[in-house]
Amino acid sequence: MKIGFIGVGQMASAIITGIKQTGHEIIISGSSLTRSQEIAKNLGLKAALSHQELVDKVDLVILGIKPQLFESVLSELDIKKPIMSMAAGVTLNRLAELTDSSLPLIRIMPNMNARILQSTTGISYNHLVNEDLKASIREIVDSFGTSYELAEKDFDTFTALAGSSPAYIYLFIEAMAKAGVKNGLSKAQSLEIATQTVIASAKNLIESEDSPHALIDKICSPGGTTIAGLMDLEKNGLTHSVVSAIDTTIGKAKNM
Ligand code: NAP
Repeated sequence: MKIGFIGVGQMASAIITGIKQTGHEIIISGSSLTRSQEIAKNLGLKAALSHQELVDKVDLVILGIKPQLFESVLSELDIKKPIMSMAAGVTLNRLAELTDSSLPLIRIMPNMNARILQSTTGISYNHLVNEDLKASIREIVDSFGTSYELAEKDFDTFTALAGSSPAYIYLFIEAMAKAGVKNGLSKAQSLEIATQTVIASAKNLIESEDSPHALIDKICSPGGTTIAGLMDLEKNGLTHSVVSAIDTTIGKAKNM
């Protein structure tokens, strides 16, 4: 399959790392010809002379531009190929309005862990995507991580839980590291300790049959240090704060 990317920033570059390994041919088109050539050189790919040239040459068009640019970029193009979008908040219906309602359309929500080929990516299709194309899309998406087929109504929730949440997890790690520094450890050491603990705790959760609650109970000895810290986290509303942040993210995605 020939795959064309329109817009190659942080996220498209990350997913291209995985797709390159599938053997599919990739061409790109960026914000200008000079940018396209620069990015193509960096990523070891070919650049198209224009967005339309790219569209005409490929079997699948992937949009890596920001949601705010969809209208202006798509209004200039005549696309008769399946289109895949990774934009937060842009529904399949909106994509059909901006392009052609007779096209197979795919919506994905990757996350930045695509950079290490471990994105958790949501996928939705419109009714024009046939089983063969679905299989190709899954192969492409699985090349940069793990995919989850979703009803489109759940896409904004997935966006919050998987697309945006790496930023929230980094904030938690940064806060742990700051606590280490406050109590006398170096920043580098605190950061490494917090990061390793987050990685191992997530692995432990995946590999054990216990729920997070059961694992929490195993760590909290009666009258001990961990339960004292946990009570303090909840006094300051950690659960409420996380749920509120996810709700706000979903609300923003719905109003993009
Ligand atoms: P980004 O780094 O800003 O990438 C956007 C790219 O679009 C830039 O390389 C920009 O080029 C290019 N561009 C601007 N105008 C263009 C045009 N007219 N034609 C072609 N390319 C153009 O943004 P991003 O974070 O990768 O986000 C891209 C998409 O991924 C968004 O729709 C976003 O919702 C989605 N997404 C992002 C994340 C994330 O974690 N970042 C997660 C999930 C989904 P210049 O640099 O030359 O301006």
